Amino acid sequence: MLAYIGLGSNLGDPENQVLRAVQTLRQLPDIELLACSALYRSRPMGMTGQPDFVNAVAKISTDLYPMELLATLQEIEQQHRRVRTAQRWGPRTLDLDILLYGDLQMHTKELQIPHPGISEREFVLIPLQEMGEDLMIPGKGSLRELIDRLPEYQLTRIATPDVGARP
Ligand code: AMP
Repeated sequence: MLAYIGLGSNLGDPENQVLRAVQTLRQLPDIELLACSALYRSRPMGMTGQPDFVNAVAKISTDLYPMELLATLQEIEQQHRRVRTAQRWGPRTLDLDILLYGDLQMHTKELQIPHPGISEREFVLIPLQEMGEDLMIPGKGSLRELIDRLPEYQLTRIATPDVGARP
């Protein structure tokens, strides 16, 4: 199954957090990393006083069922949330979301696919488009239509990760 994963971080060297998460995705036996977008810097929406976010989108192929994929992503989040510093454990932020899972639509308490924020989030839509994706977002419309509906956006492309994935 083809799936798209949204990655985001705004704490603890966010670029590195996102790049390390992409590398982790690449190494998992049940996941094949097919492509990864550039990294983008985005301003936090609605919540001032916190650092900018670094975001990316990864395209994967997986045999995992959606809930298994969610559990796998949550394990990666946990690995990144706590990093040993000199003498104590400090918080680290990494958010991994299932954006799309084939053309599946599901709406349970634990998992909503497509991800509910997908149509308003420039930091998801623009990286998807950058990967050359001409996608239909189930229940929401085409990627191009959703991008056309975005208000003026502020997204800075900051790096292209060398993840060794096929384009
Ligand atoms: P947060 O870390 O605050 O973004 O919220 C994570 C929670 O969102 C998880 O406990 C999931 O059960 C839930 N969730 C619902 N839909 C999704 C999705 N498409 N991808 C990831 N988490 C989701």
